[in-house]
Amino acid sequence: MTTRYDNSGAGDWALETRAIHVGHAPDEQTSARSLPIYNTTAYVFDSAEHAANRFNLSDAGPIYSRLTNPTVDAVEQRLANLEGGVAGVLFASGQAAETAAILTLARAGDHIVTSPRLYGGTETLFKVTLPRLGITATFVENPDDPESWQAAVQDNTVGFFAETIANPQADVLDVPVVAEVAHRNNVPLIVDNTVATPALLRPLELGADIVVSSTTKYLTGNGSALGGILVDGGKFDWTQTREGRGDVHPNFTEADEAYHGLKFADLGAPAFALRARAGILRDTGAAPAPFNAWILAQGLDTLALRIERHNSNAQKVAEYLEGRAGVAKVNYAGLASSPWHATKEKLGLAGAGGVLSFDLEGAGTAEAWAFVDALKLHSNVANIGDVRSLVVHPATTTHSQSDEHGLTRAGISQATIRLAVGIENVDDIIADLEGAFAAVGK
Ligand code: PLP
Repeated sequence: MTTRYDNSGAGDWALETRAIHVGHAPDEQTSARSLPIYNTTAYVFDSAEHAANRFNLSDAGPIYSRLTNPTVDAVEQRLANLEGGVAGVLFASGQAAETAAILTLARAGDHIVTSPRLYGGTETLFKVTLPRLGITATFVENPDDPESWQAAVQDNTVGFFAETIANPQADVLDVPVVAEVAHRNNVPLIVDNTVATPALLRPLELGADIVVSSTTKYLTGNGSALGGILVDGGKFDWTQTREGRGDVHPNFTEADEAYHGLKFADLGAPAFALRARAGILRDTGAAPAPFNAWILAQGLDTLALRIERHNSNAQKVAEYLEGRAGVAKVNYAGLASSPWHATKEKLGLAGAGGVLSFDLEGAGTAEAWAFVDALKLHSNVANIGDVRSLVVHPATTTHSQSDEHGLTRAGISQATIRLAVGIENVDDIIADLEGAFAAVGK
């Protein structure tokens, strides 16, 4: 008898191999080789008792596609594996995953300490939406300084939040240093790994506790499907106490009335992912479409290759811009001139990602807009992480909800232009930029 394909040892393979093989093997019934789309909503129980066990979480199998779906499950396993975590939960968008991460952790009266260098939508979540629910946040003054993180901690702080590589400054978070301050205060570090992806940076290996990412960007890679992933590192101790507060994380230590008194901390390593799924995804209904999960799986097949090319193209574009007259400054951690170059080197990153930004010399909004409008190969869109090269003027789009202080903190002026460098031939990308410089007389 010939041996069928067997990926039971996939966990030991290299990242490039795992990105293709983890989470799906041909099933007995169809032997279909690539991942099928299960566009299905409900799953038959073997017996009434079996149904009851699924509902009380003692049996982890599928119930209903708002909670689990076979196509979604395969992608969750793959992404959890790539990040080095114990479990993943896929959501309809990156924002849904981030919101779920905070709601899994915090309740009204709790507080989050966050980096101020955030995607604009996340900044609004912390500044406007979560405070309306009674969850407040402090933006640390200087996320590169551990003392600044410590200074923002309050008695009711339950978590730290930051992006591993933020845009548009392409600043790199010193994950081990910030994780140490979080753990000193008995709270987890949640990071958004959207720009880096696990092909470049695996925050859980560096001390972070939970990873969230918009899969809409590099993980899917083709600009065709929204999605968000939450990965539980499985190492954080949710039973910690703090003087004056008692249990720091009552969401995990108190009996949950929705599950007949179950305490999530008692469920062991994937407690956070389980609560995110059974407590938040179930109630908010921000579940991904199986079709979008399938598109994401197609993207993961080529993740490692694409990231290599995004890194090398972005590095070349950054070097070109740095040497170009008419450019006041280039933000990219792959350049020795970047304040975050040393952190990138310290963390051992093979590249600095595909996103960079630069300031046109002496430009205001009108000249920056004229530059954007003169580009032909680049698409002016509110997105990053596409195989196609993208451009945007952050001050009047992605970060337009920020005030002056917020813009300055994020390193954005009216002269700032953000590029998400694609995987086209880099000479064509640079020629397009050159054409735009000529169009604005630079
Ligand atoms: N995190 C980062 C760093 C982002 O750039 C974005 C979107 O631009 C998000 C989260 C939100 O993801 P989504 O658009 O999939 O909701």
